[in-house]
Amino acid sequence: MNVNSFRILVLGGTAEGRHLATELHAGGIALISSLAGRVTSPRCPPGDVRTGGFGGAVAMAEYIEREAISAVIDATHPFAATITANAASACVRTGTPHLVVQRPEWAPQSGDRWTVVADLPAAAALVAALDPEAAVLLTVGRQGVGAFAGVPQRCWLRAVEAPDGPVPARCTVLLDRGPYTVEGEIELMRRLAIDVLVTKNSGGAMTAAKLAAARTLDRPVIVVARPPLPVDVTVVADEAAALTWAKAKALLRSGKQ
Ligand code: NAP
Repeated sequence: MNVNSFRILVLGGTAEGRHLATELHAGGIALISSLAGRVTSPRCPPGDVRTGGFGGAVAMAEYIEREAISAVIDATHPFAATITANAASACVRTGTPHLVVQRPEWAPQSGDRWTVVADLPAAAALVAALDPEAAVLLTVGRQGVGAFAGVPQRCWLRAVEAPDGPVPARCTVLLDRGPYTVEGEIELMRRLAIDVLVTKNSGGAMTAAKLAAARTLDRPVIVVARPPLPVDVTVVADEAAALTWAKAKALLRSGKQ
């Protein structure tokens, strides 16, 4: 065994996954990036890329063994709870070193008017109870908008791609992809006369401007809390820490040749 047979599976679909793949590739560490295949034209990371679900935790474990994966880094979105649970389970099953890289949550600042709810259905229930003529900006992703399908309010959904499932009866889709600026978000929320912003607590700088805009315009924000992580997983907050972890694993592995 030498360092050249060390190969990391990076579960991606995020900027973190792409940045990490770029750094690993540049550092000469072999990797396969895994994408769910939800976006038609994803920003592809360097190195090998596989696309599509594994078929659950057991199938992912089989994949890890078949492809002789040395370590798994889960850089998926904080709300991608199923793949994160499956990866944790597959790594326990195969005895594979496993790391989760997850950006810190957003925290409310002075002047913010946040209402934190447990999940998307709770956010939708809160929206449905607002004035029926309230204008709502939904930034919950095209997969998340289905939870709001029954709300009567005037909604704008901002998403990278148009949803293919149910949406609110009065919904306009704004196709866009971050990063966003505070000025741009203020202009958008003013132009659409947005009364309420709905967001998942995704964290990260790329989409945080909407929170500053809501603060500036004194608009309430419904914030969906993150799903919990599986127990006993090692978590780091950024790509730099994940890269150090990967290098240390590769180093130990090369010592075993
Ligand atoms: P999810 O609910 O946790 O996963 C659903 C299923 O999709 C998984 O069971 C798995 O299928 C497959 N899958 C998810 N991520 C995968 C990956 N990176 N590689 C291979 N298969 C994957 O995930 P999700 O919330 O639908 O998110 C899908 C992807 O979009 C993730 O890669 C995530 O990083 C990215 N993303 C999600 C959000 C969000 O808000 N949820 C936002 C931005 C980006 P099998 O069970 O068949 O293996």
